[in-house]
Amino acid sequence: MANQQTGSDPLSADLLIVGGGISGITAAVEAAEAGKTVVLIEKEPYLGGRVAQMFHYFPKLCPPSCGLEINFRRIKDNRKIHYYTLSEVENVSGEAGNFEVTVKKNPRYVNENCTACGLCEPAVTAERDSDFDFGMKKTKAIYLPHEMAFPLRYVIDMSAVKDKSELKGAVDACPYEAIDLDEEPQSLKFHVAGVVWATGWKPYDAEKIENLNFGKYPNIITNMMMERIGAPNGPTEGKILRPSDQKEVKSVAFVQCAGSRDENHLPYCSGICCMASLKQATYVREQYEDSQVHIFFIDARTPGRLEDFYQKRQEDENIKIYRGKVAEITEVGDGNLKVKAENTVTGEMTEVEVEMVVLATGMVPNVADNPPANITLDDYGFMAPANDSTGIVGAGVTMRPQDVAASVQDGTGAVLKSLIAAARR
Ligand SMILES: Cc1cc2nc3c(=O)[nH]c(=O)nc-3n(C[C@H](O)[C@H](O)[C@H](O)COP(=O)(O)OP(=O)(O)OC[C@H]3O[C@@H](n4cnc5c(N)ncnc54)[C@H](O)[C@@H]3O)c2cc1C
Repeated sequence: MANQQTGSDPLSADLLIVGGGISGITAAVEAAEAGKTVVLIEKEPYLGGRVAQMFHYFPKLCPPSCGLEINFRRIKDNRKIHYYTLSEVENVSGEAGNFEVTVKKNPRYVNENCTACGLCEPAVTAERDSDFDFGMKKTKAIYLPHEMAFPLRYVIDMSAVKDKSELKGAVDACPYEAIDLDEEPQSLKFHVAGVVWATGWKPYDAEKIENLNFGKYPNIITNMMMERIGAPNGPTEGKILRPSDQKEVKSVAFVQCAGSRDENHLPYCSGICCMASLKQATYVREQYEDSQVHIFFIDARTPGRLEDFYQKRQEDENIKIYRGKVAEITEVGDGNLKVKAENTVTGEMTEVEVEMVVLATGMVPNVADNPPANITLDDYGFMAPANDSTGIVGAGVTMRPQDVAASVQDGTGAVLKSLIAAARR
């Protein structure tokens, strides 16, 4: 890790950035390369956020490594960036130019000696559901979050064992004395001029959309689960297989606006779900030449230059795109599913039988979960732009649903806004 606080005095820095996804990472490297000292706080054991979970990302359809690795190198090479994983902000007090931020750093139980050799893993039997893979895969209680994780270091999930003695085998197997089962949480204090909030999003809870039966039938999955199923480091090693019987999936329905633009769920449009489903249709079509994809949408939203992407998918006669709000999904035997949709203009009903259904669920802002008292939210739980003048500036999906390119621009802009607010005091 780059410099880490050791004493009890607050570490001073120009900026503290909360969230190590693409928008927070961008803010950190841009600020540091402009000569500012930065503290980056991330709650997971790795940086990269949701982008790290993707198989490919548009517009170029490249794997996450093509955008993240360069940024990780920029972080590694820059002594002005101090990053803390497994950490969360507990309190922010003060004003632009003069904030005091308290952070809780949770134990990883694996120190910097770890080389990710993996010798510890077979020495432990306790397992946990991989949250990175939405529970579709298990890992050992000591695990590497994923192979391109940054930092590339194991971590222990203590909630996966009844007693620390279950991990003794890992301690003995580690040739580098990297495992410290007695590590305790730490409270850290930082004194900073500006704060950038970039805590991103989580998927909308699909179980809340009762008529779509997610959680009831195993072959109904979400769009983020589809990213993991497509990914070579995912639960099926990149083979698109359906959950119930691991069968190759030759017909898939994508249900757009699953919970989105609906007063009972998410009243807003997440802006990227149409593009995400068109992208995922490509995953299926490229893997199985004889596959059929059905996409049900209310309005297809592929703004700006992404319209080309939409047109290309329309040229594929095995991708059928219907105007239709899905009313019901039921299981019809052998794990297959029947999707019933109503055309929102003509009222005409369409029914298709498929082997798997992907629900295009929207993005829910994490900032709404537990915002510091000095952050104002808008009606949907995103951070309101009004915060800018206070010196706590939002970036990425903290502010509004947006794609990676827009989040990157936002990260850079947030740095400038936060420094301007500090300079005006
Ligand atoms: C199915 C799907 C597919 C998509 N595909 C694409 C695509 O192909 N191309 C594209 O451009 N966009 C795509 N997107 C959108 C893309 O995921 C977002 O634009 C991107 O994740 C935004 O980055 P972010 O940094 O704002 O948020 P995130 O990626 O969510 O990162 C936020 C970070 O903050 C951390 N965090 C959260 N809470 C805290 C806290 N309290 N304290 C500290 N850290 C915290 C998180 O762990 C995470 O690391 C897709 C979205 C979906 C739903």
